[in-house]
Amino acid sequence: MHRRITDKLVIATHNPGKLAEMRELLAPHGVEAISAGELGLAEPKETGNDFRSNAAIKAIAAAQAAKLPAFADDSGIVVDALDGAPGIYSARWAGPSKDFAAAMAQIERLLQERGAATPDKRSAHFVSALCVAWPDDHLEEVEARVDGTLVWPPRGTAGFGYDPMFLPDGYSRTFGEMTGIEKHGLPPLGLGLSHRARAFVKLAEICLEPR
Ligand code: IMP
Repeated sequence: MHRRITDKLVIATHNPGKLAEMRELLAPHGVEAISAGELGLAEPKETGNDFRSNAAIKAIAAAQAAKLPAFADDSGIVVDALDGAPGIYSARWAGPSKDFAAAMAQIERLLQERGAATPDKRSAHFVSALCVAWPDDHLEEVEARVDGTLVWPPRGTAGFGYDPMFLPDGYSRTFGEMTGIEKHGLPPLGLGLSHRARAFVKLAEICLEPR
């Protein structure tokens, strides 16, 4: 049985950008959200082998520490020609200075080395895994992806991370050239475009009151 979020919810992230985005997504559903940072909770080590287990590690740690339901996400970009890299290491490829221009250049260099010059050899997808954990160990987990192609040079200055290099299938503009509203494509305007929006739509169906 799925369980609905009826209570206060801890958002298990210390990243201000993600926190703002998650609050925006949750507010229309009447959920009051407090962050792990505001509660002074420690950040657990992401030791999982996939997106889903890393989201669960973060949500479970926050739910146990705060004695409240907690919501966490894990995401990244998976490049087919690079055997799935950077995957769960997407944030780490940008290094401590969070240099995503360098991380994108690194992907491009590796693609060139492997002779991936045409769009059919440059497929990639973003993944978002979301997890809500309750203090009694109940978990709700969803995952979604958006497929696309990597372009070079990067295009656009909107968004974050690998957005300027990612052209979603069926579109002529990269995520870096889209507004947030377009990139997420959430209802009532769309059914979700970005991996995060698609995962959130799934989670809302099973855990949140309708907006
Ligand atoms: P984490 O989920 O905080 O472990 O890190 C996810 C990393 O994947 C981010 O730092 C970005 O580099 C990348 N990423 C995840 N979602 C997106 C997105 O929507 N656009 C661009 N990059 C993303």
